[in-house]
Amino acid sequence: MKTHCLGFPRIGENRELKRALESYWSGESPLGDLLAGGEALRLRHWEDQKALSMVSVGDFSFYDQVLDLSFTLGNVPARAAGTEGDRLDRYFRVARGQSAGDTDAERILAGEMTKWFDTNYHYIVPEFSAATRFSLHPAPLLAQIDEAIAAGFTVKPTLIGPVTYLWLGKAGGGLDKTTLLGEILPLYAELLEQFTARNIEWAQIDEPILSTDLDDAWGGMIRRSYDFLQGRGVKLMVASYFAELGDANAELAFSLPVEALHLDAVRGAAEIPALVERLPAGRELSLGVIDGRNIWKADLGALLNMLAPIHSRLGERLWLASSCSLLHVPVDLERETDLDAELKSWLAFARQKLGEIDLLARALNEGQDAVSAELEDNRRALESRRQSRRVINPAVRSRLENIGPDWDQRKLPYPDRARIQRERFDLPAFPTTTIGSFPQTPEIRAVRRRFRRAEITEDEYLAAMRREIDKVVAFQESAGLDVLVHGEPERNDMVEYFGEQLEGFAFSRFGWVQSYGSRCVKPPILFGDVARPAAMTVDWIRYAQSVTDKPMKGMLTGPVTILNWSFVRDDQPRSLTCRQLALAIRDEVLDLEQAGIAIIQIDEAALREGLPLRRGQWQAYLDWAIGAFRLAANGVGNATQIHTHMCYSEFNDIMAAIIDMDADVITIEASRSGMELLGAFDDLTYPNEIGPGVYDIHSPNVPAVEAIIERVSESAAKIPKERLWINPDCGLKTRRWPEIDASLKNMVTAAARLREMDIS
Ligand code: GLN
Ligand code: ZN
Repeated sequence: MKTHCLGFPRIGENRELKRALESYWSGESPLGDLLAGGEALRLRHWEDQKALSMVSVGDFSFYDQVLDLSFTLGNVPARAAGTEGDRLDRYFRVARGQSAGDTDAERILAGEMTKWFDTNYHYIVPEFSAATRFSLHPAPLLAQIDEAIAAGFTVKPTLIGPVTYLWLGKAGGGLDKTTLLGEILPLYAELLEQFTARNIEWAQIDEPILSTDLDDAWGGMIRRSYDFLQGRGVKLMVASYFAELGDANAELAFSLPVEALHLDAVRGAAEIPALVERLPAGRELSLGVIDGRNIWKADLGALLNMLAPIHSRLGERLWLASSCSLLHVPVDLERETDLDAELKSWLAFARQKLGEIDLLARALNEGQDAVSAELEDNRRALESRRQSRRVINPAVRSRLENIGPDWDQRKLPYPDRARIQRERFDLPAFPTTTIGSFPQTPEIRAVRRRFRRAEITEDEYLAAMRREIDKVVAFQESAGLDVLVHGEPERNDMVEYFGEQLEGFAFSRFGWVQSYGSRCVKPPILFGDVARPAAMTVDWIRYAQSVTDKPMKGMLTGPVTILNWSFVRDDQPRSLTCRQLALAIRDEVLDLEQAGIAIIQIDEAALREGLPLRRGQWQAYLDWAIGAFRLAANGVGNATQIHTHMCYSEFNDIMAAIIDMDADVITIEASRSGMELLGAFDDLTYPNEIGPGVYDIHSPNVPAVEAIIERVSESAAKIPKERLWINPDCGLKTRRWPEIDASLKNMVTAAARLREMDIS
């Protein structure tokens, strides 16, 4: 039986890739070091996959695999194409933008970034225009393949398929991107022939859009692509993942002239038996039975029961795999020497998941007796999780049953609240604010680290953080911002910070997952019922408010975002876990209000990414997710102003649900995605206050006053200016002080000019 994984995390067990990238970008180390670091990681990760039938090649990337493909296909945005340096420098310029240079022509805008399906991984959106011409530049990928062959591995190249590639991209200037398929197919064919020339038997072509609702046009493009790509020598496995295939897409997938299909047998578990029955003769089937999206140990006994009849039916045609790329889980559980043994025994990270795939294959090939000890260990671990008292908290359960019917309703509707709040705050037109975080400087990180290691006392820690808050507040006052923030210096991460103070969460030390480029997140492990033993933010915010007369925003992460950015327990519905989180945040909101904090922001940056890939399931998700936000936010009085914040996703098709949150103010990313957000307001009125971000915070570029005014004017064409706020796209955590100083001052200047202008 063949085994493989769809891709392996590339960041490295010690985040080696992050370090190598950042050191190259800052000019501290030469390109050679970065290249050598990449090669070492690839070799190590192929070594990890050695027990499997083949290793994945093409899953490594110095920034993003979608941007890699754009470069392979010669689709380099014109603004970067002719610039100096080598290919990798141009590549980073597209990924990150370039601020250097005095003239606009020398500045380069970063490519748009958005979330990869329903994950927290961000890719660089391919750009298509009437001027786009494709040409194949396969050398970097082929070099990696040759590297793996030379090291003695059986290679399976992995590529994002042509239709998914087009689907992910954005076309400008009225171009219909579907017309580009005919241009890229010959390049894919050429690439496949290069694989064949290297005697490669199998290539994996990812078409995750097979887990979305495809219309006839896109379905037809899939069919046309594989009709065109068949017969190039190398055998093709078309991979679908992140959801079930569904009837229509199953029919399409089965009709493709490819040698194998890969299905997500975790999220699509229910449809697998029926699909196996329908598998055309001769077709091979890779079943992704090991979850690439979560960190729980698989139930190997149950999987073997499920797989046994499939194995006897398909024999050699059955492959075992991870459900999707393991990019979305951390590298190695063995490194977690601080996790308690019981909890650790419930978990599996990427390396352990490779072991599970291998073990299942051995049990099926050689019989369960051959691996009985390992299976017994697995059974015992699962049993311990099921029985554990740490998972259930009766007090939380009974509180959930006693939620009042009006707990998710504000007392008065928005227009009445707005009147009360206007009186209370007396803000100018176009009020200015930021999203919450200020630079997380090495000094701040060092203080937090030293406190964690008990190298400084709690008093010393508090004093250092208060000095930072003082500095951030003083800066905002001098810059002339209207609603201030404390800067979040005490927070390592907007989810981890809360998880650490809530019951029901555990934390890994090295459980990093790539979010974008060199940036990683370490999702908490939500294993049990959630309770809040004590207030989490009140002392910080109260302090920050005490040093200024301007309103200070209390800053919280919302229940849906905590849920979507954690590894969540799989033994109860996510909706129930989310309600538990909502109650905990609600308590915090009410404590802040009690402490005199008049404006409270509840970030829901991850609301969108929990949305099911299938439209038919959207409403059910939105109902419970928005319900949870409302439960958390809406217990406050009329004079308390609730803000929320969202970023880096497609908002337009869920705007009705966003409106339904009934936040008084939403600050929302808009600039990075070219003000596309405003399209939502062509035929829909945003009824409350809104701050479409006026500049992209990912790039070190300082936005010009004129550019900000321009963007606000665009917004004012769609939203009454009385309800417009002025703020950056997102938090400023990753930026440096000089950029922030210049950018926010320009933002405030723009607001002042706007107040004097006559815009409608
Ligand atoms: N308040 C958070 C910050 O400013 C929000 C971050 C986010 O939306 N991702 O960093
Ligand atoms: Zn944001």
